[in-house]
Amino acid sequence: MRDPRPVAQVIEEEGVAAAIGLKHVASLLYTYRCTLSCRHCCFYCSPRRPATHASLDDAVGWLMQLHQTDRVIHIAGGEAMMYFTQLLDLCRAANRHNAAPHFIETNATFARNQAVTYERLSMLRDAGVRGLLISADPYHQRLCPPANRKRCRDVAVEVFGERNVAAADHSLEELQDLRDIGRDEARLGEWTRRHPPLLSGRAGDELARFFADRPASDLTDAMWHGGEGDPSCRQEFDPETMWEIHIDPYGNLETCCLIVLGNVHEKTLPEFMRDGFLGRSPVIDAVYHEGPLGLLRLAVDRGYQPRAGYPQKCGLCWEVRKFLRPHFPDVLGPDEVYVPDPSD
Ligand code: SF4
Ligand code: SF4
Repeated sequence: MRDPRPVAQVIEEEGVAAAIGLKHVASLLYTYRCTLSCRHCCFYCSPRRPATHASLDDAVGWLMQLHQTDRVIHIAGGEAMMYFTQLLDLCRAANRHNAAPHFIETNATFARNQAVTYERLSMLRDAGVRGLLISADPYHQRLCPPANRKRCRDVAVEVFGERNVAAADHSLEELQDLRDIGRDEARLGEWTRRHPPLLSGRAGDELARFFADRPASDLTDAMWHGGEGDPSCRQEFDPETMWEIHIDPYGNLETCCLIVLGNVHEKTLPEFMRDGFLGRSPVIDAVYHEGPLGLLRLAVDRGYQPRAGYPQKCGLCWEVRKFLRPHFPDVLGPDEVYVPDPSD
C-alpha cells in the first residue's frame, strides 16, 4: 500500500531514502550502457552495449509524465553518470518544468576523486536533484573500487543530506569484504543463496548455478517485492501495486521483469497507468494471471521441452522468455536485455 500523502510532502517530511519505500518508484532508464557488467544485472548492461541514450527532448517529456505517477522519480540505467554532460543538461531542462528527478541511481564508478565527486553531485543538486542512490554488494564491489563507493556516499551525504541518500554506510573494510566475496566463487555462492537476486538477464545465466532446481509447480517464491505463495505475478503488472515502472531510451514501458508493457510514443504513461496492461499481449496476460507457469504453457504449445526443474520462479520465467522471444518480439525485448554481451 503506497503512502497516501503526495510524494513531494513525503520527500519533504521523510527524505528521499524513506520515500522510495513509502511511495514506490518510477524511472527513466537513460541508457543500457554501464561502466560495469555485474553478474547479478537483470538488464545485461555492460560497457560494450551501444552508446545509446534517451534524447534531451524525449527525456524531458518522459520525466514530466513520470512525475504524474506520484511516485519517487529517478534516473537509472545502465550508468547514467557515463553521460554526465547530457545528464546535467537534462536535469536542468527538466527542472525548468518542475520535473527534475528526485534522485539519480549510480554504481559510484564516477567517484574517482574528491573534486570530481563533489563537483558533479553539487551540479546535480543545483539542477534540482534531491538525492542519490548508491549500490553496494559483492557483485558491484567485485568491479567497483571500495574507495569510490565510500567517497561517493560520504560526498553525497554532504551535498544532499543523509536522509536523501539511499546507501548503506559501509566502512572501507566492509566494502573490501564485499569485494572479496564477489571474487571468491564459494563465498559468492553462499552469499547469493542468502540474498537471492531476480534470476533474469545476466543473473539468470550466471547465478542460477548457485541454486538447486525444483519442479516448476513448486516455484511460488516471493518476488523482489513480495507475493510469496502466489504463483501469479499480478502484483508486478497492476498499475496500483507494481513496485516500479521504467521508461527506457526507446520509450518502452517496462518493469524489472523485462516484459515491454507498451511504448510512450504510442500513448502517454498516465494513459497506460489508467488503462492497465491486460489484453495487450498473451505474454502479459499469462504472467498477470498465472505467472511463469502461464509462459511455460505458451512455450510448450510452441515446441519448448520443459526441464525437470528450475532454480527460482523468476529463473523459470527467464528461461521460458528466452525461448518465447522470437514468437513475441514486441514484448520480449529490447536486444540489449535479452542477448548476452559477446564478451560475457
Ligand atoms: S547492476 Fe547496475 S551497475 Fe551493475 S551492470 Fe547492471 S546497471 Fe550496471
Ligand atoms: S516470474 Fe517473471 S513476470 Fe513474475 S516477477 Fe519474476 S520476472 Fe517478473
